[in-house]
Amino acid sequence: MRTEADVEEYRQRSYAAVVLGCKRCAGADVECGCFERHSIAVSAYEACVPRDFWNVRASDITHNKEVFDAVVRKYTERLDTALKKGYGLVFLGDNGVGKTYLISYVLMKAIRAGRSAYYTTMPQLDHNIKRGFDKPEVEEHLSWLLTSDFLAIDELGKERFKSGKTSFMDTQIERILKQRCDDSLPVLLATNLDHEALIESYGPTVGSIIAGKLQAVAMKPGDYRAKMAREMSGDMGYGE
Ligand SMILES: [Zn+2]
Repeated sequence: MRTEADVEEYRQRSYAAVVLGCKRCAGADVECGCFERHSIAVSAYEACVPRDFWNVRASDITHNKEVFDAVVRKYTERLDTALKKGYGLVFLGDNGVGKTYLISYVLMKAIRAGRSAYYTTMPQLDHNIKRGFDKPEVEEHLSWLLTSDFLAIDELGKERFKSGKTSFMDTQIERILKQRCDDSLPVLLATNLDHEALIESYGPTVGSIIAGKLQAVAMKPGDYRAKMAREMSGDMGYGE
């Protein structure tokens, strides 16, 4: 979670590095691409998109390319419709298949299209809710959850292994999804539960939102992190 002060500090650092440090114009040419790169980085930071995934491009996506082409790519080509109707996506798959990668891809597409976005995880949300929404920075977090054009909640279902049945968190999730649904604002979810378990586990209101408004993106196994580790070894020359 970022506070306004965090974002302002990041904005200044980014401006110094990306715009003033631009090899082409050093901040002298407002038409130069560095201004846009700076503005997108600030939006991505503010949206809490994981930094590893700020520059993901369609051509980088090799694993789960079938579902990417069949659903995710189309979704990003129709962001206006998704926003008008409140259509979202639910990424289903085991840990390490690249759910966060694809969710971040969608959020960055939205940011580049001038939309607002917000990324959070269930553990983060859980942590904030326990701190209480009367705290100003937590209240700001809630306002992003409820009003950003595209909201992503990653790692949904992880908290279910700890707690038992209907919990306070279920009520909060229901409240957030219900309000966004009433406002026709899209939600992107990622979970390692299967689709039916997900629809059943958060109660009928959340279940009907997921079933009616969120297209399932079923991701095949295959460890994305292993691929990243191989790339790191290659980049760094480990094991040569
Ligand atoms: Zn420049």
